[in-house]
Amino acid sequence: MSHFKSKYHDELIANAAYIGTPGKGILAADESTGTIGKRLASINVENVEENRRALRELLFTAPGALQYLSGVILFEETLYQKTAAGKPFVDVLKEGGVLPGIKVDKGTVELPGTNGETTTQGLDGLGQRCAKYYEAGARFAKWRAVLKIGSNEPSELAIHENAYGLARYAVICQENGLVPIVEPEILVDGPHDINKCAAVTERVLAACYKALNDHHVLLEGTLLKPNMVTPGSDSPKVTPEVIAEYTVRALQRTVPAAVPAIVFLSGGQSEEEATLNLNAMNKLKGKKPWSLSFSFGRALQSSTLKAWAGKVENVKKAQEAFLIRAKANSEATLGTYKGDAQLGVGASESLHVKDYKY
Ligand code: 13P
Repeated sequence: MSHFKSKYHDELIANAAYIGTPGKGILAADESTGTIGKRLASINVENVEENRRALRELLFTAPGALQYLSGVILFEETLYQKTAAGKPFVDVLKEGGVLPGIKVDKGTVELPGTNGETTTQGLDGLGQRCAKYYEAGARFAKWRAVLKIGSNEPSELAIHENAYGLARYAVICQENGLVPIVEPEILVDGPHDINKCAAVTERVLAACYKALNDHHVLLEGTLLKPNMVTPGSDSPKVTPEVIAEYTVRALQRTVPAAVPAIVFLSGGQSEEEATLNLNAMNKLKGKKPWSLSFSFGRALQSSTLKAWAGKVENVKKAQEAFLIRAKANSEATLGTYKGDAQLGVGASESLHVKDYKY
């Protein structure tokens, strides 16, 4: 049998398809405590639980924003938090038609003997954690594997190790009712050109789908979260149309039609760049058996964070900034974004940080 029969079989398929609904996408608000600390530090806000909670409340209760989302990825702490008025965030999301998701990986460690390549941890006890998160209302999960491009990277070891880690994670999620987001992120760092990124992306994705098949994962109940195919961060930029052509071609060659949706990470692109690239992909004619949407972290939150600056009196303004990005990305999933979003502070600014650690 090519896939195992989970007792959640139909639910997994329905939830994965729902997340891929055109017009909607995912807000990645699952920054670990360390990562959110860096974001808060950038606006001079202290990294304490109340400030982390306040930021997430601002996002999840932004008037009108949830209609553009089908999922929000949470960090474990946030899954159990409530609004200031005492309403669980999980209920806020569910009432807004948004599925709560959960980051289940435990970060990366270096693979000894490689040039700084990594593998992702968190498989031990993952089944029990998934069952607990399902109980708390989560319906999908994320596991981020990281690969880098160098003269000899990614190595065969890193590709294999990360693909099988993702596959093992995915089947454990499905056993416990969570739709796994398979995220093999190839970092943008480096001087390579777009052809190199395309070749590496194809190699990595092909290895991932081989591993998912070997592990009997039900592809209809999964989502893929890849990088877009772009030139490296130290190379000249190309237009969204070129990025769209290269990205869609790499996906056509490697991602089975059984996968309902591909939800891109923003990977340090500016807010506006990420939206324009996604829009160009959805405008592109050609074979696209999956929906193409977003699962942005930085590219959905950056101008919101700046507008907020940790001050209660700025919450409304910050929520308006978030609504602008959510709506623009919703349009981009339909290929109807006109590039007319009112740009918040820093919306065109690169969010790339070298050797970024999530
Ligand atoms: P960015 O969109 O900021 O790359 O983050 C998405 C994410 O969840 C990475 O794991």
